[in-house]
Amino acid sequence: MYEKLGPVSKDLIAQNLERVRARLAAAATKVNRKTDSIRLVAVTKYVGIQEVLALVDLGVRDIGESRIQEVEAKEKDLAAQNLSSRLSEIQLHLIGHLQTNKADKAAKLFQYVHSIDSDRVGAAIQKERAKLSKPVLPVLLEVNVAGEANKYGLVPDANVLHEVLKRSADWSALKVEGLMCMAPAVEGDAEPVSRPVFKKLRELRDELSSRSGHALPELSMGMTQDYTVAIEEGATIVRVGSALFESATKI
Ligand SMILES: *Cc1c(COP(=O)(O)O)cnc(C)c1O
Repeated sequence: MYEKLGPVSKDLIAQNLERVRARLAAAATKVNRKTDSIRLVAVTKYVGIQEVLALVDLGVRDIGESRIQEVEAKEKDLAAQNLSSRLSEIQLHLIGHLQTNKADKAAKLFQYVHSIDSDRVGAAIQKERAKLSKPVLPVLLEVNVAGEANKYGLVPDANVLHEVLKRSADWSALKVEGLMCMAPAVEGDAEPVSRPVFKKLRELRDELSSRSGHALPELSMGMTQDYTVAIEEGATIVRVGSALFESATKI
C-alpha cells in the first residue's frame, strides 16, 4: 500500500507540476512527438482534496485514483465543504484493480478506466454502466507485461489479448481505447528495467491493432520513476503521483 502524505503546499505543487510538464515536453520533443499528444493524469491517492483542487486550479483536469473507497472519501470531504460542484471540472481515472462487487460504483464515479485486468472486470463494469444514462466509458486493458506475481493484469500474450478484445465487442457501454501497464518498481535509475516493458506494451498494441482492425490509440504507461522513458516509447497517457507532491530533494 502507498503512503499517505501530510498537507502539501500549493506552491510546492505548482513548482513540481511545472517541472513535470517541462520534463514531459522535453521527452516528447526528443522523439519528435507533440507535447499535446500526451495526457498527464495526476495521481492523487497520496493526498486530500485541498491538493486535488490546487492541481485543478493549476489547469490539471485528469485525476487518477486507485481505490473506490478513496474516491468516496474525497467526495464526502468535498460535500462537507460545499465544494461538490468542482467535481464537474475533473475527469476521474480509475487506475487500480477493481473488485467486481464495486463495479456499480466504478461505473458511476469514473470517466476513464485504465485497469480492465480480466474479462470478468470488463463484463462487470459493462453491466453496471449500461444501466446508467451516461456516455460510453473509455477503458484500457491492463497488461502485466513483466509477469510480476504481485500485480494484476492480463498476460502479455497477443492471442489472449485478442480473445479479450473480441469479447469486448459485447461491451456496448464501454470502448476499449488501448493498453495500460506498470513497470516493476525500481530504486534509482528505472530506465533499464522500464524501457523494455514499455516497448513490449507498444509492440503488443501494434500487433493487436493490426490483427483485430480495432484502433487502439492509447498507451497508458509511465509513473514518477519512468514517465520520460514511457513517452520516448510511445505513451499517450502518463500517470504521475509522487513527483507532484514530494519535496524537490527526493525527485
Ligand atoms: C500510484 C500509481 C501511480 C503513480 O505512481 P507514482 O510513482 O507516485 O508516480 C501510477 N499508476 C498506478 C497504477 C498507481 O497505482
